[in-house]
Amino acid sequence: MEYDAVIVGTGIGGTTVARELTRRGKRVVMLEAGGRTDMMGNTLTIAMILRNFGLNRSREKSFLTFAKNYGGLSTLTAGCAAVPPQAIFAPHGIDLTAEAEEARNEMKIQTLPDELIGPDNLRLLEAANDAGFHWRRMENFIDADKCVVGCSSCMLGCPTGAKFTARLYGDEAMAGGARLCLHTKAAKILVERSSVIGVEAKRFGRTVRYYGKTVVLSAGVSNVELLRQAGIAEAGQGFACDWLQFVGGIIPQVSTVRANPMTVGTLEHYESDGIAILPVFPNWSQFLLFLAFMGPLNLPNFAKFRRYSGIMVKIRDEISGQVCQGNTFSKPITATDRKRLDKGVGIIKKVLKKAGAKSSDIIALDPLGAHPSASCRIGEVVDSNLATRIPGLYCCDASVFPQALGLPTVWTIVALGKRLAGYLNAG
Ligand SMILES: Cc1cc2nc3c(=O)[nH]c(=O)nc-3n(C[C@H](O)[C@H](O)[C@H](O)COP(=O)(O)OP(=O)(O)OC[C@H]3O[C@@H](n4cnc5c(N)ncnc54)[C@H](O)[C@@H]3O)c2cc1C
Repeated sequence: MEYDAVIVGTGIGGTTVARELTRRGKRVVMLEAGGRTDMMGNTLTIAMILRNFGLNRSREKSFLTFAKNYGGLSTLTAGCAAVPPQAIFAPHGIDLTAEAEEARNEMKIQTLPDELIGPDNLRLLEAANDAGFHWRRMENFIDADKCVVGCSSCMLGCPTGAKFTARLYGDEAMAGGARLCLHTKAAKILVERSSVIGVEAKRFGRTVRYYGKTVVLSAGVSNVELLRQAGIAEAGQGFACDWLQFVGGIIPQVSTVRANPMTVGTLEHYESDGIAILPVFPNWSQFLLFLAFMGPLNLPNFAKFRRYSGIMVKIRDEISGQVCQGNTFSKPITATDRKRLDKGVGIIKKVLKKAGAKSSDIIALDPLGAHPSASCRIGEVVDSNLATRIPGLYCCDASVFPQALGLPTVWTIVALGKRLAGYLNAG
């Protein structure tokens, strides 16, 4: 089977490149290790989409999320859009302005009308600004015409199809002639005379080879194992995950349980402290899991789940730890990470108290890493064209970030994918 491009992984990075290349008339195949879970909008969806049902813990016992399904992690996002941060890419000669602007319309990026933001989020925004902060309505990649008031199931897969996900681009790529192979796990990069010639994969117990002069690895943290096996040993030496912490508080007459997540918030502490503050809370099953892992004394808080209003601090964490063999990993929370998280938790407590929560009714959950990234960094593993040192072999997903973003990632990855497709087409 011979293609112009073999794409490994159907997260946002892989499907963007696939779509752009098929639009330019290229023959493309997308290999996806997982299947396609279409049962969107309930808690089981999360378990079906995440690798090991979401129970991936670092050697230091922190949870990190990895996808194993068509569309990757993008199917579980809150739909919050952050402009690609120029300061992170400019030092590498990368300007994503044009690509991001092109994506804006396709992803339907906009601030939602107040009825979709909801009164509970707006109450938090008001309390935060009364407390001296500068909250605003955030941009989202959610089609307001398809979104339903009170649904709030964005992170359960968005049952209405209002949210932009990698599946939109993946389906468009297929409509343009690309082939999608589900349950097909890339196992080896094929190299001949120092150049890439394709990928060997495992598909229903069989070994299948897909040939192409261009191979794009968009398999997230799994890129590391494939690259190391191809001789690129520096992959996976340290990575980022944008540690986040959820803080919940009981505010009289307010509960964000049915509110659309991350539709308001603030990035005012981002430049100075690498902190983003956005309202969002885990769903009931994740909340129960958090409490259980935090120890039995925390379990009685589960009874109060529906009364909580939740806000998250997300940080730009330091590159630390490593991806180990077999895709296990070490990811310590460094002293700087801890300081940033604590500062964010402190800010959130001020907002919750201003909104009417008592100190005794505020709970901070343990840190979680929801954005595995920066394991194949630009400048170290790939160059500014996302090329590895093996001719024809590229990476394109969150793994190429030169450092942690500490922000919603999807818009940035789409822009990187469009840029890479333009480069490949020109080459
Ligand atoms: C709960 C949650 C909420 C989030 N909310 C937001 C948000 O509101 N806004 C935002 O911008 N970002 C958000 N993010 C972050 C964002 O979803 C991810 O950072 C982004 O989708 C990662 O995309 P990716 O292309 O790097 O790869 P991934 O999504 O990790 O995709 C990798 C793909 O490769 C496949 N794969 C892995 N190994 C192999 C292999 N060997 N062979 C073949 N296929 C393989 C996987 O199955 C997967 O489909 C959120 C993340 C989570 C977990």
